Amino acid sequence: MEKEKTSRSAYEWLLNHYRTAAHLESIKSLLHWDQSTFLPEEGHPYRAEQLGTLAKLLHDLRTDPVAGEKLAEAESTGTGEDPYGVEAVNVREWRRSYDRATKIPVRLAVELARAASAGELAWEKAKPANDWNGFRPYLERIVALRREEAECLGIGHEPYDALLDEYEPGETAQAIEPVFARLREALSSLLDRIGNSPRKPQTGVLHRHFPRSAQMLFGTEVISRLGYRRQAGHIGVSAHPFSVGIAPGDTRITTRIDETFFPAAFFSTVHEAGHALYEQGLPAAHWGTPRGQSLSHGMHESQSRLWENIVGRSLSFWEHFYPAAAERFTALQNVPLETFHFAINAVRPSLVRAEADEVTYNLHVMMRFELEIALLRKEIEVADLPGLWNEKTKETLGLTVPDHTLGVLQDVHWSSGSFGYFPTYTLGNIYAAQFYNRAKEDVPGLESLFARGEFGPFLGWLREKIHAQGKRYSPRRLLRRATSEDLNPDHLIRYLNEKFGSLYGF
Ligand code: ZN
Repeated sequence: MEKEKTSRSAYEWLLNHYRTAAHLESIKSLLHWDQSTFLPEEGHPYRAEQLGTLAKLLHDLRTDPVAGEKLAEAESTGTGEDPYGVEAVNVREWRRSYDRATKIPVRLAVELARAASAGELAWEKAKPANDWNGFRPYLERIVALRREEAECLGIGHEPYDALLDEYEPGETAQAIEPVFARLREALSSLLDRIGNSPRKPQTGVLHRHFPRSAQMLFGTEVISRLGYRRQAGHIGVSAHPFSVGIAPGDTRITTRIDETFFPAAFFSTVHEAGHALYEQGLPAAHWGTPRGQSLSHGMHESQSRLWENIVGRSLSFWEHFYPAAAERFTALQNVPLETFHFAINAVRPSLVRAEADEVTYNLHVMMRFELEIALLRKEIEVADLPGLWNEKTKETLGLTVPDHTLGVLQDVHWSSGSFGYFPTYTLGNIYAAQFYNRAKEDVPGLESLFARGEFGPFLGWLREKIHAQGKRYSPRRLLRRATSEDLNPDHLIRYLNEKFGSLYGF
């Protein structure tokens, strides 16, 4: 009896402790959102101080030794019979984050934070200036620190796994490598067939004039129809589109409008709405605890890319929305639906990952994954990156990299030390195709529902299988529960082969 009481109070203590951390996190998100949308130029230095104070408070909470004692107490008295019950899940996840935070010496944590912010600043200057040599020492520093961090964490079979685990809990390089190898082979062969096809899309129809206000209105109407709740959100404008779940009832997204290219804003809006639908579907009663939080980066990306690509670039989706688009944009008035649909699905190898189509996107990601693993395994060094980047681009995409701006310097990720992040993009695409395949079995006539503008049944499926689960299961376990299958790239391969085979005529 006495023991139970102790455990209860330890759990209550932890609940209160981590809810406080969650409040600070959400304040941080709000400050970041404001910084990317409205903050005046002269307000930036003080904002940096505010964020610094919050980071310090959060670090103290996450490494508080009392939390360690309470966790041990809660664990020793048990958290109930169901390992996936609310208390068990929360204690498991708090332990995970406590261990990650406390295994790293304070000195290393401070150096990592400094190197990351210096790296990002250096990258912002180096990228437009094509200045690899100016950026290289910053990256060398970051790689050295991240290697040290991976050693301290000691998670998985090899150092890379410790970094990957931060973004995709439980995932390992060893487990991903064969899955990616299979996908790469299939994509290369698909890309060859597309390249040899005499059919070419008329992409010119997308490079016309699309007025800003009409794009904003159309994007807003579409994502509302998909289920994004505007009473619980906000759509703004920023240089780099993003989404942020600040609190239950407050999930915001931003977009960036290009008046001379329709897909830029539209598909990024649908992408961010996919992230936001996940956040809006998390169980609000568990807000501020792991049970009420999104599962992983890969899982988040599976939601955004499902809506953006599998749904948002499908013919049935446009059977519903195209009449409204053609009415709103004079540029599309004499363009048949099939021409438009082929154009938004054009496949063409390009140098920049962020602008890549559905077929080549994963090739970009896998190239980065290989370089990251080799760096963490110390098979290569930072100085080798530009040469290898250019070689791999030639080999994978058949393109010559003209400069570092369009090559090794193009992505922000490495500049802040985010090694282990890239593979979650491709994992997200693989999850997405697996979910979609299963949803089609569970919800009869899914695509004809889309063609009638009915997205509720599909969103309901995602809500139940993924969103409502929070961090209850590991990503792999959730995938198995939702689809009755382990990670399997064949669904993505089949989806891409069927879709592009029909568009390009093979
Ligand atoms: Zn995303």
